[in-house]
Amino acid sequence: MTTDAFIEGNLRWAAGKAEASLEVLMGPANADPPRVLWIGCCDCQLPPHDLIGLHAQDVVVYKSPANMASGHDLAFLATLELAVERYRISDVIVCGHYDCAAVRASMEPQDGHLFDHWIEPLRAVSRARERVLAAIAGDGARANVISELNVREQVIGVVRNPLVRSAWRRGQRLAVRGVVASKRDGLLREIVAPLASEKEASALERNGAAGEVRRPPTPMPRRK
Ligand SMILES: [Zn+2]
Repeated sequence: MTTDAFIEGNLRWAAGKAEASLEVLMGPANADPPRVLWIGCCDCQLPPHDLIGLHAQDVVVYKSPANMASGHDLAFLATLELAVERYRISDVIVCGHYDCAAVRASMEPQDGHLFDHWIEPLRAVSRARERVLAAIAGDGARANVISELNVREQVIGVVRNPLVRSAWRRGQRLAVRGVVASKRDGLLREIVAPLASEKEASALERNGAAGEVRRPPTPMPRRK
């Protein structure tokens, strides 16, 4: 698709939405600031705000391959700071997904590209849980468990982040949770239940990558 085709597509979209009311889609023009920071994966096209029943303007979305929440990623840190300190969001959601291309790539031999540096944390998770993963039949099933374990690791990264710790210490209400999305049914599986304090975060950190939570689909809270 050329740039002109994108512009033409945008004109068609905006014209269609004007009839359907942009306010219905985006939320009221004078609405409150966003309330959720969504940390998702680049190759998951499920729309975050739709998945949790919010308007688009309620959610700040940060995406990277394999939904990383790295303390070395300046763009992520700037987004986290904006969301936590300026918007005073109430929830951080780390969302992995099944059938993730980045996770599948981490199961292949390294080829020396920059991407290998980015997905090294996935390989580290796989090394740490080698026995568990070896007992799972099928690459697809193994990849899905790696997605779940990675969500857990990224939640740990978020709750260890000084920006989040500072928010809790000054009494800001902030919950951090981890989920995995399925493109097949659109449901979110809860991997890490909401953590809303340093004490709750410490309990997760003590278990570290050894923990593994498998729960049935859990509907996310809806707004209004
Ligand atoms: Zn992915």
